Amino acid sequence: MDFSISEEDRLLQGSVRDFVEEQVNSRWREIEEARAIPDAIITQARDLGLLGLSIPAQYGGLGLSVVQKALVHEMLGRGPWGLSTYISVHTGIGCVGIVRFGSDAQKQKYLPKMASGEWIGSFALTEPNAGSDAGAMASTAVRKGNEWILNGTKTFITNAPKAHHFMVFAKSEAGICAFLVDREAPGVRIGQVFKTIGHVGSTPAEVVMEDCRVPLDALIGEEGKGFEYAKRCLSEGRTTLGARCVGTAQKAMELALEYASERKTFGKPLVEHQALAFRFAQMSARTEATRLACYRSAWLLDQGKPAVRDSSTAKLLGGEWSWQTVDECLQIFGGNGYISGEYMIERMWRDLRVARVYDGSSEVQQIVIAQQLRKGDVQTAW
Ligand SMILES: Cc1cc2nc3c(=O)[nH]c(=O)nc-3n(C[C@H](O)[C@H](O)[C@H](O)COP(=O)(O)OP(=O)(O)OC[C@H]3O[C@@H](n4cnc5c(N)ncnc54)[C@H](O)[C@@H]3O)c2cc1C
Repeated sequence: MDFSISEEDRLLQGSVRDFVEEQVNSRWREIEEARAIPDAIITQARDLGLLGLSIPAQYGGLGLSVVQKALVHEMLGRGPWGLSTYISVHTGIGCVGIVRFGSDAQKQKYLPKMASGEWIGSFALTEPNAGSDAGAMASTAVRKGNEWILNGTKTFITNAPKAHHFMVFAKSEAGICAFLVDREAPGVRIGQVFKTIGHVGSTPAEVVMEDCRVPLDALIGEEGKGFEYAKRCLSEGRTTLGARCVGTAQKAMELALEYASERKTFGKPLVEHQALAFRFAQMSARTEATRLACYRSAWLLDQGKPAVRDSSTAKLLGGEWSWQTVDECLQIFGGNGYISGEYMIERMWRDLRVARVYDGSSEVQQIVIAQQLRKGDVQTAW
């Protein structure tokens, strides 16, 4: 078993870490106040290739493996989640479906412009009455002549107001199908734009389709296989999301350790009180275990395995344990931790909370893991 990474991957991870720390975290208060990611940061992200992580080199992207993407997402997790979600939806769940299941024509049309950042992508699965139970969606797709007619409302769609296109899921007679719906398609519009408690800049919004007309070739892959494609995109997304949570937990621990080394109570630094030292030890152990789960899931996906249980495990541990860690770190900052705009820990606390909810809530991950166990997907040995 080899846990080492190549020098090339180390440099890649280092360059993303430097970008996040030097160009983004240094401006975190400004980003929170403006509730937007500055264009200059998006341009820097694009120049680093971060908008084309999943896109093969032949279409202008970096064409990274899932393990490499997890390495990058871990570093993105050290920064604001508005930025990392923007990047990860655009080049992850909003893109993987085209890369893996799209036609040559779809790849030619979308991927080069997505890699360059000219076109921003999105993933539109959730509906007002179908989130955890996404299969119960009400959106419909009817074939009429040489077009598909789509009706329905998608909600909480990250990047929607900035997106050039939406990867939309809707039901036809054959079952759930996936479509590429361009923003300019007749009958599609942005509905409510939501204000979130953290995670600023990724602007989730409604995507409303009223007799929306798209050409027949807007269908991705085969009719009726859309849910299968969605799950494949999500397996990868859950793995890299877990890695992002690891990055956030790691950064929170570093900040808390620094604070606890300086702040004194009862005549000694906080960190020298055994109760807090043990807390750091437990946070470190949880973060390490989550990191291993994420990279194992990423590795399995790179081997062409479905990694359903593994990606849900990575996401469950990422959401729950990293949240626990960030919450405990905020506790270590005492009253200072709860003051808005003072210490970055408060932004991390607001940002990370969503990881227990989106891309399948923690409860949904447990449902998926339990289903896999019942199917015999049990790891009795490596
Ligand atoms: C900031 C943000 C960005 C998002 N971006 C996107 C996006 O880009 N694309 C997209 O398609 N969606 C997106 N979502 C939607 C997100 O994936 C859903 O909110 C999530 O899947 C939960 O669905 P829901 O909100 O409908 O909650 P519900 O399904 O109504 O669930 C409510 C609660 O009940 C729990 N629950 C539900 N069923 C069960 C059960 N059987 N057993 C136990 N507990 C259960 C859930 O875990 C949850 O805690 C985003 C959401 C947010 C907040």
